[in-house]
Amino acid sequence: MKQNIFLTFRIPIDCLLGFFTYRKPMRVTEIMIYPSPNYGETGYYVCPKCKTTLEREFMHFCDRCGQRLDWSDYRNAKPVYPKPRAKPMPDKSL
Ligand SMILES: [Zn+2]
Repeated sequence: MKQNIFLTFRIPIDCLLGFFTYRKPMRVTEIMIYPSPNYGETGYYVCPKCKTTLEREFMHFCDRCGQRLDWSDYRNAKPVYPKPRAKPMPDKSL
């Protein structure tokens, strides 16, 4: 029975450690703007941790890295634009 007592103390500690590391919500502060030929511009919010675009608004967690998200300031998100792809180097052998 002593092992059961040990487990009841251990589980909350693990939860606290998780809370203070990656479970702490990070505020969504950027929205990636993609130009769309038919619909003007389409915006996708950006995960503050792994910087990938989120598939849906108001997701509780990033589906890539699992970061908990804070949407309290999403209206003030800064629009960012994807960097234009570098043009391929011309092949001089042709
Ligand atoms: Zn992420």
